[in-house]
Amino acid sequence: MKLITLILITLSILACTNKKAQNTNSEPQDTTIISSDSTNNSQLSTFNFQLSKEVLLGKFNPAEDTNYVVIPDHMSTYKGLYCHREAFNAYLAMRDSALREGITLTIISATRTFDRQLQIWNRKWNSFKTRDTRHETRDTRHETRDVRLSTDIEKVRSIMRYSSMPGTSRHHWGTDIDFISAETDYWTHGEGLRIYKWLCANAHKFGFFQPYTDDPARTGYAEERWHWSYAPLSKPYLEAYRQKITAKDITGFSGSYLVDSLGIIQSHVFGITE
Ligand SMILES: [Zn+2]
Repeated sequence: MKLITLILITLSILACTNKKAQNTNSEPQDTTIISSDSTNNSQLSTFNFQLSKEVLLGKFNPAEDTNYVVIPDHMSTYKGLYCHREAFNAYLAMRDSALREGITLTIISATRTFDRQLQIWNRKWNSFKTRDTRHETRDTRHETRDVRLSTDIEKVRSIMRYSSMPGTSRHHWGTDIDFISAETDYWTHGEGLRIYKWLCANAHKFGFFQPYTDDPARTGYAEERWHWSYAPLSKPYLEAYRQKITAKDITGFSGSYLVDSLGIIQSHVFGITE
């Protein structure tokens, strides 16, 4: 009898916890409740949020999700960008602080869905000229396959110096923001360098860090001085990604068959400076 009572209490607690979950895109059988308190940052809000595979892979519509807000036009280069609400509030505080020193942190990218990343991926993938294999191999099936493999690997490696495969981008989460310019040169001198130095000295006060630094021990993308991540959210997202997503989940585009053999999740999703 005691055991039945215990089971009933446990079930009612679980039902209650699921009701509190914020995200409408989640499937009940595929949920993790993560408290952002666990990152130990005093700026954290205390709400719990629920992260499904779909949300982690960017397969949702931020326009229909109350966790996301539209970035006002005057703060961004493009209209209709979305950001996770909590990351956006932190951005507003950082923006104000930067403005007082004559720095305008204009947003050039924030949330990008799987479909948006797919468009970017396809455009880059299709921009490669198809290699003429007629003179490179004798016409055996085996060699043709090997050549295709080497060219596909080359394409993946080239695109992934700066761009993500659909399903592997931190931009899917709305926790990461690109500022001002995605041109490497902009950030190395003059005004760009001054802004970068300001971000290095101050962004952490607002919860932001630079995941893609010049640390030689890091794998994955090249250094991105424009890309800043709101840690109180993105750390739990990354942890949920670690628990839930495997190479099998990254499908549906040219080159996706290489995710596992190239170790893309390990090198690029986890190849960050924390
Ligand atoms: Zn970025």
